[in-house]
Amino acid sequence: MSRKKQPPDSTLKAALDEVKAIYAELEKRPLQRDCQMRTQCCHFRLTGRTPFLTLGEALYAAQGVRASGRKDLKPRPDGACPLLGKEGRCTIYLHRPFGCRTHFCHEAGGMYPRKHIADLIHRLEALDEKLGGDGSRELEPAVSDALAKR
Ligand code: SF4
Repeated sequence: MSRKKQPPDSTLKAALDEVKAIYAELEKRPLQRDCQMRTQCCHFRLTGRTPFLTLGEALYAAQGVRASGRKDLKPRPDGACPLLGKEGRCTIYLHRPFGCRTHFCHEAGGMYPRKHIADLIHRLEALDEKLGGDGSRELEPAVSDALAKR
């Protein structure tokens, strides 16, 4: 099986900077939501929904995983996100993907409307293409592959 060529370090740094800039831009346009940190949205088996990540998001999330001292993701028996900590908090909160920042549960007010964030999604997609990604992928394989890259 042929492995894709890895981007050079300078490209990777620029990519991570772009992801950070996109998340910072999102922070500047918050919508009223009432998140009680129930982490229901992190329990994929309950919700039937899993976040999908572009390659830049996955690389940035992998950076957060490494910073927490882990080298890989361990699937959880309850089907919840492998990045959800035992105490019920996201273990890569500052590095969490775009979907985790914009998809709120119904009780909290629901997901951000696409028109509010469409330009940021386009930026993430453009970055994915630039990095040679395959488009958005499910969180677990996307982050696991990103962890294996570096
Ligand atoms: S990355 Fe964090 S916020 Fe997103 S689903 Fe996983 S535990 Fe929840």
